[in-house]
Amino acid sequence: MTTPVMARAAGEVGVVVAELDIGPAWLVDPVTGREGPGEIVVRDGVVEAVTWLDGSEAAGADAGGVVVAPGFVDLHAHLREPGDEDAETIATGLAAAAHGGFTTVCAMPDTTPALDEPGVLARVRAAALASGSPVELLAHGAVTVGRAGAQLAALGELADAGVVGFTDDDAPIATAAILRNALAYAGALDLPIIDHAEDRGLTAGAEAHDGYVATVLGLRGWPAAAEESAVARDLAALADVVRDVPAARLHLTHLSTAGALDLVRRAKAAGLPVTCDVTPHHLALTDSWLAGARSWAWDEGADPWTDGAIAAAPYDPGLRVVPPLRSAADAAACLAALADGTADAVGTDHAPHTSVDTDVEFGAAAPGIPGLETALGVLLAAVDAGRLSLARAIAALTVGPGALIGGRSRRRSFGLAEGAPADLVVFDRSDSWTVLSDALASKGTRSPFLGRELRGRVLLTVADGRLAYENA
Ligand SMILES: [Zn+2]
Repeated sequence: MTTPVMARAAGEVGVVVAELDIGPAWLVDPVTGREGPGEIVVRDGVVEAVTWLDGSEAAGADAGGVVVAPGFVDLHAHLREPGDEDAETIATGLAAAAHGGFTTVCAMPDTTPALDEPGVLARVRAAALASGSPVELLAHGAVTVGRAGAQLAALGELADAGVVGFTDDDAPIATAAILRNALAYAGALDLPIIDHAEDRGLTAGAEAHDGYVATVLGLRGWPAAAEESAVARDLAALADVVRDVPAARLHLTHLSTAGALDLVRRAKAAGLPVTCDVTPHHLALTDSWLAGARSWAWDEGADPWTDGAIAAAPYDPGLRVVPPLRSAADAAACLAALADGTADAVGTDHAPHTSVDTDVEFGAAAPGIPGLETALGVLLAAVDAGRLSLARAIAALTVGPGALIGGRSRRRSFGLAEGAPADLVVFDRSDSWTVLSDALASKGTRSPFLGRELRGRVLLTVADGRLAYENA
């Protein structure tokens, strides 16, 4: 491991980073669009200087070694507290975030009870404070009471309490009528509506992407049309609402099909205020993994059974996600959308479960995988394969999601800004780590990447000027 890194500020999680000198290293600043060799000086938790280097001063710093970026932002994490603390707690979720380089995390409201009123937000915040983690915990509120889809929640009260968006994930917003009201109301509050696009009329009992692999495995198909028709509905509602409420905003989360991303691409070109994210697993894995293939999506052949790609047993319930892992063409579309900016952000959809819920037959497994700790490594695999630029990967983890939550974060910048509390991640692209359950801070250890080596070990995460994670 090359470590031109630092006079460390070593200490415990939560302590102010008194003195930290990083570099020469490869700095990536997505706000200015600049990347190159440089040094960063932190004193008493504040970024005192960001210095770009050239010539002999820059020796030893390149994009394949130690990289410094702004701390990552996740728009979509299921932290399970309150209600399902066996699967994850705020404390373990924030520890996982820090290990993955995330310094701002938006919790989803599908807790028990649902985060549909300010009292639940207060509980979530109290748990974050008690954890001692400096990672910033933000939260989305539910669109409807109890996420039941019938009656709009008290969006104004939730906005006053500080939520950063509204969503009924992991369910879609039930009807177009509720969606229209929600878009208008949230728009007036200057907050986005975040939808999980799924037409449940097409997915009842569905287990796997409707295609060749599902047919061969005898799994019930989950058609791409279930996502695409929901996206079309959402975009039509948005187009209607923005005429009266220009501030209305729609964000579509975990899009997974080429058709859905194409609809968003066209809506953006037409000027609609829509944004979206894709997950690391949908761009890097395909439904061939259900058959036992274990290649990255971009390395895959046409047929896992004839290409010699099978490397594991089929029907691994740890691969059950919603939306399901799609075809190689869909995964390529997710990656292309990220590269061309159609996808504004990467959202992890971190969704840990207890083994009781996942050690069952495929179709009965609780859908969802932990994602906070592997997101960077999976994206860097795409970078290493030449499918994505490092700058674009970092932007999709920082300024992209940052633009959505904007002024509701305590952070003054999602770049490398002088004079602000340090919010940054240092990782080494020349170093790798093996994803093992005891290497994960999350309680959810059912990762599809278990046993896999990922490049880009996180060395240090600093949030709000305080130590969040340090690789021992
Ligand atoms: Zn969802």
